[in-house]
Amino acid sequence: MPPFDVPEGDPFGPHTLPYGVFSLPGSSHRAVGVRLGDHVLDAGAAAHALGSPYASLLAQPTLGPLLAAGRTAWSDVRRALTAWVTVPSHRETVEPLFHPLSQVTLHLPFEVADYVDFYASENHARNVGRIFRPDAEDSLPPNWKHLPIGYHGRSGTVVVSGTDIARPSGQRKAPTDAAPVFGPSVRLDIEAEVGFVVGVPSRLGAPVALADFREHVFGLCLLNDWSARDVQAWEYVPLGPFLGKSFATSVSAWITPLDALEEARVAPPARTHALLPYLDDSDEEPGGYDLRITVAVNGHVVSEPPFSTMYWTAAQQLAHMTVNGASLRTGDLYGSGTVSGPSERERGSLLELTWNGRDPLELPDGKRTFLEDGDVVTLSAWAPGPDGVRVGLGEVTGRVVPGGA
Ligand code: MN
Repeated sequence: MPPFDVPEGDPFGPHTLPYGVFSLPGSSHRAVGVRLGDHVLDAGAAAHALGSPYASLLAQPTLGPLLAAGRTAWSDVRRALTAWVTVPSHRETVEPLFHPLSQVTLHLPFEVADYVDFYASENHARNVGRIFRPDAEDSLPPNWKHLPIGYHGRSGTVVVSGTDIARPSGQRKAPTDAAPVFGPSVRLDIEAEVGFVVGVPSRLGAPVALADFREHVFGLCLLNDWSARDVQAWEYVPLGPFLGKSFATSVSAWITPLDALEEARVAPPARTHALLPYLDDSDEEPGGYDLRITVAVNGHVVSEPPFSTMYWTAAQQLAHMTVNGASLRTGDLYGSGTVSGPSERERGSLLELTWNGRDPLELPDGKRTFLEDGDVVTLSAWAPGPDGVRVGLGEVTGRVVPGGA
């Protein structure tokens, strides 16, 4: 079906228009692409063909220049793109610049600058607390309701959807073991998350206020924070996650601009503790997003985590990340933290879904506690869009392969 005739109600219709970077078979030339249905538009070529002033932002091998251009440019470019793919008089010029998705290679769409990962789901944090600290009085750490907990991860190992994930090796030591052993992780897990992409930098020493979130953050993607639970459990005290996480983080090839998610904005859960002023969002616009995530292992749906249940918003995370004066760079990426809803079928990790391996999942191809070599994990999602139409998020998928060690 020609791209202009994308069916009404397609989650990747002209109301969505996510950005990515693609190349064609046999070519090393990378181009900014915009997805429409099951096609991708060469956005730079379209800008040139139509004499658009945005050609210099779009005729690039990466999203970097567009990310750095700022909120006004983001909205202007999106408005222009919407016209290019919907106004009949553009059809003859633009239609030859589409390529079937099945024929292109998708690349990591921007150079990831700094990478931070948070821990913003109360359900997830409580489940983890119950699993690892069953005797604790409160399943949440004492700081959890006062600040969005996070850690700095490894930006250089953020990979695009479709990249194979080599099983990491490392040290592990069960509490009952006399000494640590080294070898391939036997508790390889996923974390279903949403990643936020920073476009506009901030100045060193100048915190970013809650209200300035949309001036800095361009859009979001799906993110899988692969986690070696056995490595993590032995190494994480006292400085937090390290090698149990840094071997790979997968992101979707498509970045959905915040402008496509206006109808998906919702209020976060009611706050149970008073917040310090820089985090107090009670007078701000709704900071949550109603994203419905699906987690599939080998094509079998195991969970449907609801992003609307996240306690800390992306705006609060950005404000907290910069409140000490740390500056932002174009291409900074921060993960929401594992998304887990209140019910058992809404948990965003195998750790929680199997209760640390106690309750294996029954898949058509056998039982699972943690991931086996050959397993393929796919996160997909949609959000409410205009007039009841869904806004699709690009999927993030990855296959576990044996490690090289
Ligand atoms: Mn995580």
